[in-house]
Amino acid sequence: MKLTCHNHRPTADVFDPRCQRCGRPLLDQNITRDELLVRVQALDPEVSISLTGRQRGTWVEVAQEDTSDVWMFWARPAANIAGFEAVEHPSSNPTGEELGHAFLIEMMSAPAAPAEEIGVAWSRPKPSRWDRFKRWSRANAEREFMVIAAPLVCLWATALFVVLGWDGVKGVASAVASIFS
Ligand SMILES: [Zn+2]
Repeated sequence: MKLTCHNHRPTADVFDPRCQRCGRPLLDQNITRDELLVRVQALDPEVSISLTGRQRGTWVEVAQEDTSDVWMFWARPAANIAGFEAVEHPSSNPTGEELGHAFLIEMMSAPAAPAEEIGVAWSRPKPSRWDRFKRWSRANAEREFMVIAAPLVCLWATALFVVLGWDGVKGVASAVASIFS
């Protein structure tokens, strides 16, 4: 058993992946829970965070503390710059599937611009830098879509025009129009 293992090699057991070298349980991307914690901490070094010990699928529960409060959220490894993604869940005992679903919905509905805080009657428990990162990565994804997809659409439109000719394109357009009329 190697204690200083930095290159984990997962076992074939997909339901309980462990490192063949150091024996530690692994999450997605073959990192351990502690390595995930390091990534979460790196995004916001000023806050105090720890693992609660709960895990659902590849999600692990993270507790974030300040002087007066403890907030919980769930994090899992991801292939973005932060190296993880996070979500809060209203349920006190969500399944991994529920967490993945909640995360998807949150990403789809993430506001592109920071929403204004309304009142201070209750404080919003949030990994704030994660929130900013989330908005940033969504804006990036949209920009990437424009950069990658727009030329492709143009390319296909041109190819269609070359293959079908002007009359052909008009025929396709009227055929499509007739479907919706
Ligand atoms: Zn290892």
